[in-house]
Amino acid sequence: MRIGWIRSVPTLLAASLLATSSAQSPVKPSPSTQTWITDVTIISPENLDHTATGTVVIEDGHIVRVDRSSPSLKPPAGAVVISGKGQYLIPGLIDSHVHLASVPGMNSDQQAGKSQMIAAYRRQLPRSYLYYGYTTIVDLAVFSEKVLQDVRQSPLHPDVYDCGESLPLANGYPMSFWPAEQRFKQFPNFIYDPAQAGKIPAEYKPEDHTPTADVARVRNSGGICVKTFFERGFADNFRLPVITPEMIAETRRAATQSNLVLFLHGNSFESQKFGLAGDVDVIAHGMWHWRDRDRVLDNEPQLPAEIKTTLDEIARTKIGYQPTIQVLEGERVYFEPEFLSSRDVAKVVPQELLTWFRSREGQWFGDEINEEHLPAEQFRKIYDEGPLRRVRQVTAYLAQKDANFVFGTDTPSGPTYGNLPGLNGYLEMQQLRQAGLSLSQIFKASTINNARKLKLDEQLGTIEPGKTANLLLLSKSPLQSLDAYDAISTIFLHGQPIPRESLAATAPQD
Ligand SMILES: [Zn+2]
Repeated sequence: MRIGWIRSVPTLLAASLLATSSAQSPVKPSPSTQTWITDVTIISPENLDHTATGTVVIEDGHIVRVDRSSPSLKPPAGAVVISGKGQYLIPGLIDSHVHLASVPGMNSDQQAGKSQMIAAYRRQLPRSYLYYGYTTIVDLAVFSEKVLQDVRQSPLHPDVYDCGESLPLANGYPMSFWPAEQRFKQFPNFIYDPAQAGKIPAEYKPEDHTPTADVARVRNSGGICVKTFFERGFADNFRLPVITPEMIAETRRAATQSNLVLFLHGNSFESQKFGLAGDVDVIAHGMWHWRDRDRVLDNEPQLPAEIKTTLDEIARTKIGYQPTIQVLEGERVYFEPEFLSSRDVAKVVPQELLTWFRSREGQWFGDEINEEHLPAEQFRKIYDEGPLRRVRQVTAYLAQKDANFVFGTDTPSGPTYGNLPGLNGYLEMQQLRQAGLSLSQIFKASTINNARKLKLDEQLGTIEPGKTANLLLLSKSPLQSLDAYDAISTIFLHGQPIPRESLAATAPQD
């Protein structure tokens, strides 16, 4: 079995099939009309000691005033007033690790002939993120500029940022999943490896594929970040080529010069040590392989001392850290028969696709990861006692050291239906909570920590004057229980209030 089958397989779309979607935006407040959210408990991550009741005033899509005094001020005539009595106002959530172009649960061959099903999925995609409060998402590896544009042009959508085309090492992960003759076309922003000159088509010149040239392409495409990889492979193949310290150093320099945030895909002890030494900004996975080059520590029941030393450094240097525990759960879930029956799933994917997930064909990925046809219980146990145990131990240790968690889900991490847009964020939060993060750590990770690490904190991440009015009104406090994130009543998107239930896949569409 291949544990941690992340970002694999040619699931990635041929053409985008988005049909023109019918406009259905709720009425926007006309420019310069103020919206007053009154009598509301304001919970903002820079100010957690003062969760006072007060008023937040929005104008032209921005927060213009935050008043924590009570009794609160009187709104002027003509203002739209929304009473937040008994409710909580928090910043919109940020998921800094998504993949918009991948269709969950489906490989590219299966996409043929399903254009309507896929179009319906893509129409719902931005709404599902909003449904769970994600008003900002970051696509970490762009495969289809078209899909991103379609999301950005849909009537209601989160703010979308991206890392442009990713920077894999030639013939390394993840381009190694494609046949040799296709992979360079799929990953044109690869890093040239002189040691493999014979395995790189002659049309690609070394000087066009230095880390510096690659980073420049990302910057010119409008990316805010770059993503590269350190992945030796999977259970059956740990021999993939990986980038060198010189390559990461050059990528680091180029990213810094272009003011881009540097993400490293790495889920092993070795790769995270490499990321630490390379001074990356964000480690884009948890550590579920306790493997250091040729030494495998996976069966150690407790965190080995040498791993702790690395984690201490990760915490001390405040590198951004994304445990992405749902990557593993997204595989394990094929052996949890109840998953597709939950009400939550029906809220985020159209019925037709859900029906296909349940079909024999829709179960293909489960067969693929469980090659040996183990009974479901045994399969789950391997995950629970293996990679899930390890990633939870690592996450717990980092939580205790107050590492700089930046919330990211890797949705979908592979061709799995276990990582569905929006819902996957809520499930990841539950994983983090179980692994030992406090409620305030989770709240900060998905708001201010993300905004700061992504250099978006001028606009996002807190409730302060001048910031974008991406806000959530909740009937519960996220500092008291995690299910507050499933108790959203209204999503404010650039000041526009949207009732949550209108965003569900089950809501009547016009
Ligand atoms: Zn990813």
